[in-house]
Amino acid sequence: MNTINSSKTIYPDVVLIGAGIMSATLGVLLKKLNPSVTISIFERLDRITAESSDAWNNAGTGHSAFCELNYTPQLPDGSIDYSKAVKIAESFEISKEFWAYLVENEIIDSPDSFIHHIPHMSFVWGEENAEYLRKRFEALTSHHLFDGMEYTEDKDEISSWIPLVMEGRDPNERVAATKMELGTDVNFGALTRSMFNHLEEQDGVHLFLNHEVDDFERKKDGSWILEVKDRGSKKTHKVQTKFVFIGAGGGSLPLLEKSGIPEGKGFGGFPVSGQWLVCNNPEIVEKHQAKVYGKASVGSPPMSVPHLDTRLIDGQKALLFGPYAGFSTKFLKNGSYMDLPLSIKLNNIKPMLAAGIHNMPLTKYLIDQVRQSPEDRILALKDYLPEARLEDWDLETAGQRVQVIKKDKKVGGVLEFGTEMVTAADGSLAALLGASPGASTSVSIMIDLIHKCFKDAKSEEWQTEFRNMIPSFGQSLAKDAKLAANTRARTTEVLQLGASRLEEEIPF
Ligand SMILES: Cc1cc2nc3c(=O)[nH]c(=O)nc-3n(C[C@H](O)[C@H](O)[C@H](O)COP(=O)(O)OP(=O)(O)OC[C@H]3O[C@@H](n4cnc5c(N)ncnc54)[C@H](O)[C@@H]3O)c2cc1C
Repeated sequence: MNTINSSKTIYPDVVLIGAGIMSATLGVLLKKLNPSVTISIFERLDRITAESSDAWNNAGTGHSAFCELNYTPQLPDGSIDYSKAVKIAESFEISKEFWAYLVENEIIDSPDSFIHHIPHMSFVWGEENAEYLRKRFEALTSHHLFDGMEYTEDKDEISSWIPLVMEGRDPNERVAATKMELGTDVNFGALTRSMFNHLEEQDGVHLFLNHEVDDFERKKDGSWILEVKDRGSKKTHKVQTKFVFIGAGGGSLPLLEKSGIPEGKGFGGFPVSGQWLVCNNPEIVEKHQAKVYGKASVGSPPMSVPHLDTRLIDGQKALLFGPYAGFSTKFLKNGSYMDLPLSIKLNNIKPMLAAGIHNMPLTKYLIDQVRQSPEDRILALKDYLPEARLEDWDLETAGQRVQVIKKDKKVGGVLEFGTEMVTAADGSLAALLGASPGASTSVSIMIDLIHKCFKDAKSEEWQTEFRNMIPSFGQSLAKDAKLAANTRARTTEVLQLGASRLEEEIPF
């Protein structure tokens, strides 16, 4: 494990705070774009990817907007707004291109270690929801990124797709489902570890575990001095750098506040905890073979959309249901209950109070969720698996999300459910806040960050290297159907996402 040996200041070109998927992606991209760059990565825990990016802390859905109904809201005139879905689907294709590059260049040994084909399905019941799903299907399939999506209300057909979901269901109820074969399950933890293993082999890259960034100071020449505490020896070290990325997940907001950059003023955070039910009965796990997303119940937040998820983690097939959202004042799973109170400052108290007042139903919802009994949780699961039994399921804690609160001219403050990149005007610091759609779109988010913060991004050299890593770079997969089809065919082959591999791996 690396430690800072001397009491002298160290001077890397780039500091990455946090060893999750965002820092890993940015580190690999920067090192490829500029092989001589020096990078220090500081992680407060004694291991990498132990917060949101770990496989069991997130749902592992390769978010492509195939099945997530919250990305396709219905407008007051009844039509479906699918603009966000197209953006997310395009971003995920870009991620797959970069991951295919990592496989082709042996930075990742085998795609099997982190990505698997798994059908993505939406499933709803009741007249209104079925009508919505039909309209959503019609809207999405008008766009080439959703080619191949199937829709049915035929109970036998749905039974052939997801038998357990149909067993014991009221035969008179209208149900509807869509299926997209091209869906994926991603072990973001394994992917992150592969990228850090590669980074650690590079000259000029140092990963410091058990090192927590505590404070910042801005020098007159525009560089940053970071105070970094070695949590083992309790010594504090100084690190000077020209660029800082705050990729600390839930811990990003307090660090952004400490940086003092004007662009970071007025942001607040609303922590939401999560729990899964994990199936402990191998017979049930074997019978289900899809990621099935439903509709969030009226009044509940988008991150509580229930889903029944086949996962493949370290060669083991698993079945999760959830997440059951909850309220905790911690910003990180391994954080402190003081995280939320300590994040309240004069410059964000107004937006935080306003967001709190306007989101009372959400707070009430989260508190109700926390108070759920095991029987209540099984009732929610029975909406998806009517014959579910309590003894087949264990409750596990998922990762912690911190939703972004932003200033708003009209109402004072709003709660956002997406991701927010905050960058200093001179490009010397960037922080990533929020959680969704998250790891799936990490590559596009980091390419965007590089364009905002590094002058060289537009140079011929860097543009050529971007195209080398992401062949569609500079073109639009959302607008060019032929390019999208060719790109998908290529990444499906390199990442071995064809259905045949799945059948070999997962015996039915
Ligand atoms: C319940 C849940 C389900 C999700 N499902 C999905 C999904 O299905 N698909 C998807 O794409 N995304 C999903 N996400 C989102 C996704 O997990 C995150 O967007 C992504 O992992 C964030 O990566 P990160 O690198 O920013 O943060 P993290 O992985 O949380 O890493 C941040 C790191 O920073 C460290 N750190 C914090 N403070 C400091 C400090 N002061 N000094 C040094 N180190 C520090 C932490 O210890 C941590 O290791 C989900 C998230 C949750 C919580």
